[in-house]
Amino acid sequence: MEKEVRVRFAPSPTGPLHIGGVRTALYNYLFAKRHNGKFILRIEDTDQTRFVEGAEEYIRESMEWLGIVPDEGQGYGGEFGPYKQSERTEIYQKYAKQLIDEGKAYYAFDTPEELEAMRERLTEARVLHPQYNALTRNTMKNSLTLSDEEVKQKIEAGEPHVVRLKVPRKEDIRFKDAVRDWVLVNTDTLDDKVLMKSDGLPTYHLANIVDDHLMEITHVIRGEEWLPSAPIHVLLYEYLGWEAPTFCHLPLLLKPNGNGKLSKRDGDKHGYPVFPLDWQAPDSKEKSMGFREQGYLPDAMVNFLALLGWNPGDNREMFTLEELVENFSLDRIIKGGAKFDIQKGQWFNQQYLKNTTNQELAVFLLKDLNSKGIECSQEKAEKICNALKERVTFPNEFSVKGDFFFEAPQAYDEKVIRKKWTQEAVDTLRAYAEALAAFEGEFSAEKAKEILNEVLEKLGVKIGRIMQALRVSISGSGSGADLMEILDILGKEETARRINDAIEKLAGQVKA
Ligand code: GLU
Repeated sequence: MEKEVRVRFAPSPTGPLHIGGVRTALYNYLFAKRHNGKFILRIEDTDQTRFVEGAEEYIRESMEWLGIVPDEGQGYGGEFGPYKQSERTEIYQKYAKQLIDEGKAYYAFDTPEELEAMRERLTEARVLHPQYNALTRNTMKNSLTLSDEEVKQKIEAGEPHVVRLKVPRKEDIRFKDAVRDWVLVNTDTLDDKVLMKSDGLPTYHLANIVDDHLMEITHVIRGEEWLPSAPIHVLLYEYLGWEAPTFCHLPLLLKPNGNGKLSKRDGDKHGYPVFPLDWQAPDSKEKSMGFREQGYLPDAMVNFLALLGWNPGDNREMFTLEELVENFSLDRIIKGGAKFDIQKGQWFNQQYLKNTTNQELAVFLLKDLNSKGIECSQEKAEKICNALKERVTFPNEFSVKGDFFFEAPQAYDEKVIRKKWTQEAVDTLRAYAEALAAFEGEFSAEKAKEILNEVLEKLGVKIGRIMQALRVSISGSGSGADLMEILDILGKEETARRINDAIEKLAGQVKA
């Protein structure tokens, strides 16, 4: 029987989750679901100096907003917990001890000054990789150079020390990456990485490997920035006698112009978010905007992110989360960096917004209206959303683009008036207002049109000659949503009132 697929998203709670991290989570989710496996959330908080209050909750809220909810992990339970590394210290200590006992790691007592002196010495001697490694470790203060007795004494005396990995000299480490194929690294370029820090906590490398093994992770899907760590991890698996998972390093997310890594600075400069949700740092005024608060819909976001680094093999662009699950595969992840084309993101939002029910869209509009102290019925809000949904990208535009539904125009588009506000238009509109006032019965977009047609026929006027004048008298603008739908929403009394108001206010501006 095939092993169950188990993948994990393993962020560090050091601030708001970057959108690149969200994409990593999404790809892990898609892969897990595609293979009926498990998607796990592990919190990697071994670096206590970088811990930020609220970041863990932010991670979960972001994932839940997008509908990529873990099956297991910190905050979700499961049989492989705890899923937070700060609660697993003893486990790491045990494996560090095992590595030392087997001669695969060692204690090191060097002070920061001694390490610095070593680096200076090597730099002066023009050594290519001036680092703590197979060449230098014999000149340093560690359990390889000190006697067992000295080591024991130092530890008992509480002298600060770390545990380092004993990286072999001049050996090739090779592993197969699902995206990059074979990766080959010579150990000459690696240093004896610290596995346990002087505070007794593990570093990322040790904790990551121990947890992936104990949590039975089958595939490690993570950002390309972790590729340089992978050889260390492969070596650790070998040293511990464990089978390594399949690695899959995802391409970087690049700025929209393709020039360098996507950054918060670039987002701020050009006015687009790089975080899923708004974020307020607990100890500073710094605020970052989120896609959610900017009006991006979760389904649009998922679709957009999925195609930033993965291609479905054809030109298809629209995918629901379920469809992505059906189609996702690691072999169609692209190798090169993916441009974060924010305009494409907006395009996706527009597509999804158009397909959202009026009932759902009305929720956004009603909330905005409520904050402005404007009353509106559910029915009217739904009609407004229906009228405007082809013309907006974000839900917060409904209350802005639809402001004329709640307030008669204060000004009229001058260009339209100059060209279209003719005596013929004024006479026709006046007759239309009268006909509307006289109409008794159920008003609707169709009725508005029918009554207009009757007036036009009676006066022998062609519709094209008065349409813009009618529109401008109603909304102040020369273009917009379907006019008859607008009239229906406003109702016949308000429509007639606005026409009469415009005729009065624009009396001096009738085109000769
Ligand atoms: N804790 C690492 C991060 O913050 C995880 C890297 C990995 O997935 O191995 O991204």
